[in-house]
Amino acid sequence: MTTTRFAPSPTGYIHVGNLRTALMNYLIARKAGGTFILRIDDTDPERSKEEYVDAIKQDLEWLGLHWNRVERQSERLDRYAEAADKLRAMGRFYEAFETPTELDLKRKKQLNMGKPPVYDRAALSLSQPEKDALRAERGNGVWRFKLDHERIEWADGILGDISIDAASVSDPVLIRGDGQVLYTIASVVDDTEMGVTDVVRGSDHVTNTATQIQIIEALGGNCPRFAHHSLLTGPQGEALSKRLGTLALRDLREQGVQPMALLSLMARLGSSDPVELRADMAELIDGFDVTRFGAAPTKFDVQDLFPLTAKHLQSLPLADVADAVAAAGVPADLAAPFWTMARENITTLADLKGWWELCRDGAEPLIADEDRAFIAQAIELLPEGPYDGDTWGIWTKAVKETTGRKGKGLFMPLRKALTGMERGPEMATLLPLLQVIRARA
Ligand code: GLU
Repeated sequence: MTTTRFAPSPTGYIHVGNLRTALMNYLIARKAGGTFILRIDDTDPERSKEEYVDAIKQDLEWLGLHWNRVERQSERLDRYAEAADKLRAMGRFYEAFETPTELDLKRKKQLNMGKPPVYDRAALSLSQPEKDALRAERGNGVWRFKLDHERIEWADGILGDISIDAASVSDPVLIRGDGQVLYTIASVVDDTEMGVTDVVRGSDHVTNTATQIQIIEALGGNCPRFAHHSLLTGPQGEALSKRLGTLALRDLREQGVQPMALLSLMARLGSSDPVELRADMAELIDGFDVTRFGAAPTKFDVQDLFPLTAKHLQSLPLADVADAVAAAGVPADLAAPFWTMARENITTLADLKGWWELCRDGAEPLIADEDRAFIAQAIELLPEGPYDGDTWGIWTKAVKETTGRKGKGLFMPLRKALTGMERGPEMATLLPLLQVIRARA
């Protein structure tokens, strides 16, 4: 049974980078008819906030990424303590007392000598009295997992065959001096006990994965299949990490981005398949294949979301946008024709308001000097309301016959006089919606 999880730390709002991870795990689970767990990685009591837990849930719900259940690491601390005891009993866990400054110094020395900055395991050779003395002086040490110095290998679902020399990696700290359990072990215990079969996460976790594989093996668990997706960059290939704060899902929602636009882009960006707007989640699930993604950094341009949003909106029936149409001020009896006119001419639903204002108040006419007489003549020929879909055709035919104008010379001045713009909606659709024609005055 396929089980995946999305495991955000509730220390901030989730952004497009997190979404990529969430979506891939979600789609794998749904495609296989499996389970998708929302796991809240909240072992850090200082930085984890309840408001972010709520926000993460809201954002996922907005997108329709529904989870089968929620797990919280803060409620599973006893499980992690048990695993730590097991590693201790096995001789794979040792206490180390170096201060951050000491570690920093060691790293600098190693780098100066052209060596990789790997923890030198000095703590392994401490005698019991030395440890007691250090503990008395500095308090509890950190607990490090003793890696087996051999190659760690796995077939990565995106990166292909990976082989990492464990000797090039520092023994990971799994428990801090203050007793706080760190993600590396908590995640392993959860993935194992919750039967997680597939883990997709960012390629910044590749080294973690190597150490986690050894921890899973030491604890006698089954390794999930791992896949590491590339990290997102800005449109020019610049690092996105600093700007991700401005690419929070809630900001995109505020800007009017539609969920299907965002999901459609994210399900394909960085893969060998083209980005196409999908109609619904079922289509996304159907067309998803994690092995189609590549290792190269993936360029993300927030602007790409707007044409997709526009295209998605165009496809919607009035029922799906009725609230937004009403909120723009459109009276119920005009909602249907208004939506037919507006849907082709909006990028986001926020644009509806402007189109309704144009219908309600009329536009400031745009009339070139050489067209003044023509417009005056045309307005004379404008039939009395109410107008319908045929009015524009009937009217322009009459204007053409009277003035002799045709083509662009006929239509463009009329459009500009009625809408104040050079392009916009189909005039035949718009005319019956115009409550005021200011060019008439
Ligand atoms: N909380 C971790 C993170 O947000 C989860 C990583 C993982 O998927 O294992 O980076």
